Amino acid sequence: MAVWLLYLSKIETVRILIVEDEPRLLSSLGDGLKHAGYAVLLAPDAAEADFTLKNYPCDLVVLDLGLPDRDGLEVLKSWRKQGIEIPVLILTARSDWNRRVEGLEAGADDYVTKPFHIEELVARIHALLRRARGRSQNTTEYDLGVRIDFGSRRVFVGATEISLTSFEFNLLAELASAAGDLRSKTSLSERLYDRDEDTDSNVLEVLVGRLRKKFAVVLSEPVIETVRGAGYRFSLREHV
Ligand code: CA
Repeated sequence: MAVWLLYLSKIETVRILIVEDEPRLLSSLGDGLKHAGYAVLLAPDAAEADFTLKNYPCDLVVLDLGLPDRDGLEVLKSWRKQGIEIPVLILTARSDWNRRVEGLEAGADDYVTKPFHIEELVARIHALLRRARGRSQNTTEYDLGVRIDFGSRRVFVGATEISLTSFEFNLLAELASAAGDLRSKTSLSERLYDRDEDTDSNVLEVLVGRLRKKFAVVLSEPVIETVRGAGYRFSLREHV
């Protein structure tokens, strides 16, 4: 069986296997991730995905759950059963929150709901790869002396602690884990609230405003940028 399409790029290659049966989406995802600097392997169905994963080393899998030959969830479960621990990010329909939960229970590491912006997918992938490399288990440092301890959920600027509510911390953690990348309001709301519960986007704006105010007491430069009509971006670079 041949790999349907194989893109290889650049030097320090992180390889991502994309499993998606819709040809246009598959090729646009392939292009998008290639553009983001990843080497990309593409599979249009479960059989090809299984074959590729077992024959080519990959660092992460983007897995659509609705595949023509086999249910994506079954594929994921069989990988986990065989001890394949590679990070898997599943793609689900927005309305399909129960499948999303099943997916996470079956061993998916994260999910993105369709339709999505490629930037959002790239941000989730960055975060997953970071996690997989075992960095950022606890404290991550950013520009301007900002430090976030994800374990104890505390935030510092230099020696000064910024005291945040639980909700504020969750929002900051979401933004900072995708430092430099755009996070859409929809994806942030989804992360912060229960499932598909309708949320007022004003709440998000209020939370962002409060975070900005708290940082502004210590820092003169903005920490969270508004990308008009699109969402927010944590503007500090992460120190590797
Ligand atoms: Ca599908």
